[in-house]
Amino acid sequence: MKHISAMTAMRDRTNSWRSKLRQLPSLLLGLILSVALFSCATAPETGRQQLLLVSPSDEARLGVQTFQQLKEQQKVVTRGQDLAMLQRVGERISQVAPVPNARWEFVLFEDEAPNAFALPGGKVGVNTGILPITQDEAGLATVIGHEIAHVVARHGAERMSHRLLVELGGAGLSAALGAEAGANRNLIMQAYGVGTQLGVMLPYSRTQELVADQLGLLFMARAGYDPRAAAAFWNRFATYNARRGGPMLEFLSTHPLDQRRIAELERSMPQAVAEHERTRAR
Ligand SMILES: [Zn+2]
Repeated sequence: MKHISAMTAMRDRTNSWRSKLRQLPSLLLGLILSVALFSCATAPETGRQQLLLVSPSDEARLGVQTFQQLKEQQKVVTRGQDLAMLQRVGERISQVAPVPNARWEFVLFEDEAPNAFALPGGKVGVNTGILPITQDEAGLATVIGHEIAHVVARHGAERMSHRLLVELGGAGLSAALGAEAGANRNLIMQAYGVGTQLGVMLPYSRTQELVADQLGLLFMARAGYDPRAAAAFWNRFATYNARRGGPMLEFLSTHPLDQRRIAELERSMPQAVAEHERTRAR
């Protein structure tokens, strides 16, 4: 009897958890509305001031939920050397990256778009299409370090907050509040650059990109990868972008990032190399 009631209690708990998940979009928006409209925070590691309307725990919940859906909907690589390499890199970098509420997971998606993303909650996705550009383990570490840096610096939360402020400030308010479950999923996917066809570096602002480069460089160095591989990767990525043309070229003409990025990387390199030497000496 006791056993049965324990089972029932567990099922009830699971059900109530499920119904909470279903209510997540409205819970999240309600929470945002009930908090003061402005909430500025200082970004970790960089000290930048940010507008943040989303709490780390809500963000992590959304990240985990979205990642689960992506895994169900998209083709996932389940074996092989590429997957083993991704998990090795992920394991090493996650040990040096401070992400709140992280339950780390590294998934390789069968997708030719050269993209990668990290979501709050410690969920990282890499498309097979970026592997020809990363080429080796240190190249992949560059990408993973960079994407995790966006999460650590809460760039997606910043973008979501700006979007929400715009939506809540105008006619978008009722639409935002009445939104289907998919709306917040789309919000976080756009904020963290999931599913974009434009490639790994384009979803964020130039400032955020440079911050993520710098942080990512330190993460890869602390994880034992030679940070000098980062400059080589971003050079290959720039070449890929230049060759690809199309809408990419138009985007790059308004966001000319590649040369600035590589110059800034070179500036941060001595510190990262010193960090790398220290890690190796340990
Ligand atoms: Zn980026």
